[in-house]
Amino acid sequence: MYGIPKLQAIKSELGEQVHIMLASKNQSEQQLRLFLENGHRLFGENRVQEAAEKWPRLLTAYPKCQLHLIGPLQTNKAKQALQLFDVIQSLDRPKLANKLAILEQELPPRQYYLQVNIGREPQKSGVMPEELEELYKYCKQLKLNVTGLMCIPPAGEDSTPYFVQMRKLCDDLELANLSMGMSADYKQAARSGSTMVRLGSIIFGGR
Ligand SMILES: *Cc1c(COP(=O)(O)O)cnc(C)c1O
Repeated sequence: MYGIPKLQAIKSELGEQVHIMLASKNQSEQQLRLFLENGHRLFGENRVQEAAEKWPRLLTAYPKCQLHLIGPLQTNKAKQALQLFDVIQSLDRPKLANKLAILEQELPPRQYYLQVNIGREPQKSGVMPEELEELYKYCKQLKLNVTGLMCIPPAGEDSTPYFVQMRKLCDDLELANLSMGMSADYKQAARSGSTMVRLGSIIFGGR
């Protein structure tokens, strides 16, 4: 089972506490319209360029839709990202924070989640857990509205210990939103206190 029936099933499984974001990279505008017409309003895209090609028409047609950036952001794409996304979930370094703070002087303010490299993987983006608090304080000084954390735990391992650590980091900073859990581990994420799971392949099929 895929598509809208699968989404409905996971919605009733998770209940009201956990928001379901559709991770819609590589999905066509036409495919996304099916979910929008069915009432779904929360989507995440990985690449600014792809989102800029797909979403402007959809956002005009469905103005209540919330679009989040869940992929890495380069400073030279920051302006375009702020024009398109309601929430940037991949803020992970001071240099990007500086750039966003400058851009916010002339663009509407957005929300940010700090991405944490919870598995401390060299190839992955995200701030190291021990540097999180300092980055958070820095963003606050810059008046960036940080409201949550996001992570992608190491592949091929049990995610639960990482999710538990993320829940604690989120509580320590008293942040409202915790974006964690994908198709393979959304149940563990929900049990560990995720407020938002990001689902792709389990809904759209393939990978
Ligand atoms: C693709 C993607 C997802 C969804 O992954 P699935 O395993 O297909 O559910 C979630 N988060 C991020 C950051 C992604 O890039």
